[in-house]
Amino acid sequence: MKHISIAIDGPVGAGKSSISREVAKGLGFIYVDTGALYRTLGVYSKLHSLSPSCELPKITIKFIDGLQHVFANGVDYTDKIRTPEASMLASDISAKPEIREYLLELQREFARTASVVMDGRDIGTVVLPNATLKIFLTASPEERACRRHEELLRKDSAAAPSYESVLEDLKLRDHNDSTRTHAPLKQADDAVVVDTTGNTFEQSVEVMLKTIKERI
Ligand code: C5P
Repeated sequence: MKHISIAIDGPVGAGKSSISREVAKGLGFIYVDTGALYRTLGVYSKLHSLSPSCELPKITIKFIDGLQHVFANGVDYTDKIRTPEASMLASDISAKPEIREYLLELQREFARTASVVMDGRDIGTVVLPNATLKIFLTASPEERACRRHEELLRKDSAAAPSYESVLEDLKLRDHNDSTRTHAPLKQADDAVVVDTTGNTFEQSVEVMLKTIKERI
């Protein structure tokens, strides 16, 4: 049976992860969060002073109770990778061609073995150029920063950075992601654009499911 793959790319905070997870659930597909791989390598590199000449850790993904867990050399990093620091570490490490090359096959293997909703920055352009459907999910920078800020406040209101600092980080990561030489964040020519500015989460999921069902 040929598996279906939905590639979802877009800038920081467009709601890719939460929307993609819900869309995958609705379709009965596996959700693969590729940002978690870069985050894991970013945090790993900080803890182990990873240099380009060092051997990279063995990265694996397992689904525990339906939730994606990421392991580096057998250690579960899932709880360590959702901090603003991990975001910047991921953004820095993701510019390195040897890191992107290393993660490429792991990502492709998922789409070979199951129907997937895979989100990231270069899924439609590099990882799955023949994806069944490509979606570029976006929203205004201010709205994306506001959503990310609210998420951090919910997690730990005392430790959450200010809205202004979240907006600044987001713009910096957007800039890094879209101007790097290797596999920059870029809308694939054949991607459908979905702009979620002004939508509630439920509305965005609905628009996405409708867009997908109309096309596959
Ligand atoms: O999507 P998320 O914010 O978790 O990704 C963290 C970082 O990992 C991004 O800012 C980006 O630099 C990098 N990334 C990437 N390519 C992907 C997924 C994430 O470069 N496919």
